[in-house]
Amino acid sequence: MCTSTLEHPHAHAPTTTDGAPLSYADPAQQPRELERTIEAGDHFIGLVRAGQHLRITDLHGNQAADTLFFSADDTAERYSAMDTVREQGKVYLTTGTVLYSTRGRALLTITGDTCGRHDTLGGACSSESNTVRYDLEKRHMHSCRDNWMLAIARYPKYDLTKRDIGHNINFFMNVPVTADGGLSFEDGLSAPGKYVEMVAERDVYVLLSNCPQLNNPCNGYDPTPVAIRISDSPLS
Ligand SMILES: [Zn+2]
Repeated sequence: MCTSTLEHPHAHAPTTTDGAPLSYADPAQQPRELERTIEAGDHFIGLVRAGQHLRITDLHGNQAADTLFFSADDTAERYSAMDTVREQGKVYLTTGTVLYSTRGRALLTITGDTCGRHDTLGGACSSESNTVRYDLEKRHMHSCRDNWMLAIARYPKYDLTKRDIGHNINFFMNVPVTADGGLSFEDGLSAPGKYVEMVAERDVYVLLSNCPQLNNPCNGYDPTPVAIRISDSPLS
């Protein structure tokens, strides 16, 4: 039995430098206008109300933001990579892409994109995939799946469980499909200040892991912060 009184540094939900919560424990308490910087390896969960604009900015370039969306009315309805790819007839996400749910309804539409390519085929990193792709000794390394698991444990009012973790979007990540149908993880196309902006078609929860991956070139082997902005007015 552990009798130590030492507190783990991440035992409490992270805050911004001025003491505001990085994510709000109760989505109903979240201000309509919100801007946050999410450090590499950290997570964000929040509410984007219908008609609001969500911008994610790759502050230093070559980062990957592993993101899930859920209908706030019923979190059993979530982002569906399959429905999104089928409906638009192509595999990359960019301006004009409608992000569909598992019930075939629009969750958000991408309205602005200075990066030009976002992936929804490559999936998220996990301790299991780290061991398969890289090495058994990589198992303990931080991963996006662990980030999401920590977020849903830390913020129970969003009513999410590990069963709700499914296909995701990798904003700013470059996973080209080869001529013979293969997938490859390539150096990112993104650069400092590149952003993607979308409008919410209904109330949605966004759950974002700012990828801590150190073993592939998707973030240049050097994870860096991203910024998130939720607003009633578009920037693009
Ligand atoms: Zn990751």
